[in-house]
Amino acid sequence: MRSVLALAFAALVVSAASSAADCMKVSITGVQGGPPVFKGQAGAGTLVQFGSNESNCSDVRLQFDTGRGTTQSLSKLGVPVGTLDAVFFTHLHSDHTEGLADMMQLRWHFNSQGPKVDLVCAEEVKNPLGVAMSCQKYAAHIGDALIQSGEISQRLAENKKRLPGGPADLLIVKDFPLKQDPVDVWRSGNVTVSAIQSTHIAGHASYRVDTPVGSVVIGGDAGNDVRKPPRDSSTSAQVEKLAQGADILVHSTIHPVMGPEGGTGFPPPIYWRQSTATDLGFLAKRAGVKNLVLTHLIPPVGAPRQGPYKLPDGALSKADYEQAVLDSGYDGQTLVGEDLATLTLGAN
Ligand SMILES: [Zn+2]
Repeated sequence: MRSVLALAFAALVVSAASSAADCMKVSITGVQGGPPVFKGQAGAGTLVQFGSNESNCSDVRLQFDTGRGTTQSLSKLGVPVGTLDAVFFTHLHSDHTEGLADMMQLRWHFNSQGPKVDLVCAEEVKNPLGVAMSCQKYAAHIGDALIQSGEISQRLAENKKRLPGGPADLLIVKDFPLKQDPVDVWRSGNVTVSAIQSTHIAGHASYRVDTPVGSVVIGGDAGNDVRKPPRDSSTSAQVEKLAQGADILVHSTIHPVMGPEGGTGFPPPIYWRQSTATDLGFLAKRAGVKNLVLTHLIPPVGAPRQGPYKLPDGALSKADYEQAVLDSGYDGQTLVGEDLATLTLGAN
């Protein structure tokens, strides 16, 4: 009798494990760092998907930042924009946001009757000139050029089922106050997203997604609160807090070659407000992060310049970025990002 019970218990454990055949996929939708464009790379963004093995991890779809070309990248990943549950902004710089207008117009065109999409972002804060950095206003005016041109009303005349206010009608802004400790900002089933204030420009946030199969942190363009040397690190203490024990850290990075000593002429304050690849390695090591994904690479791999700033010793390779991380002694997995690069956790 005892052995039968033991067997039954073992079977339960196995079936519990297989009913938990969940998976999470993290994909780079755009690796481009900053406003330049190089060889068609898409602008900054990361897609996080979670679900069952049967759904190919697609039950929950979260897009973090929407740089130029995000719609195309999602299409290459087989993800229609109408199926995103939520979009999260790390900050209101165009290289992280400009793809949303295109995405929302497409969604309005074909999915006006479908679910609205949450836009999760930090509450309004003032920039150094006293003007509000406002995600609410960004969302409210997302279709303005197309309204002003007359296109929206022309298309409404063709199809009255479309929402009358244009693409803005499909966005539900869920803004949150920035705090120095993580706060929960979004949830669906057993997927939670938390956010923390981090430094880059006013209103910058970093995010963590927790799922039953693992966690991913999206650092965005975060840098150290101390905006220039001398300081311990170029990385953010808040991102480090958020990244404790994370399976994956996706973070924007800048190579030390862009620093004041590198001879590129790149403005030092712009260099200092990003995290270097080496310092991200140190952070990942301290926080026990298993996989470090470098994205928003400044300069891009293979590029002779970052915008107008020429690299005196020529383009960097992936190996240069890997070496920059290895210099920290980080012994986890490092992935130098490229468009559509994907990591999967759990089944699948
Ligand atoms: Zn950026």
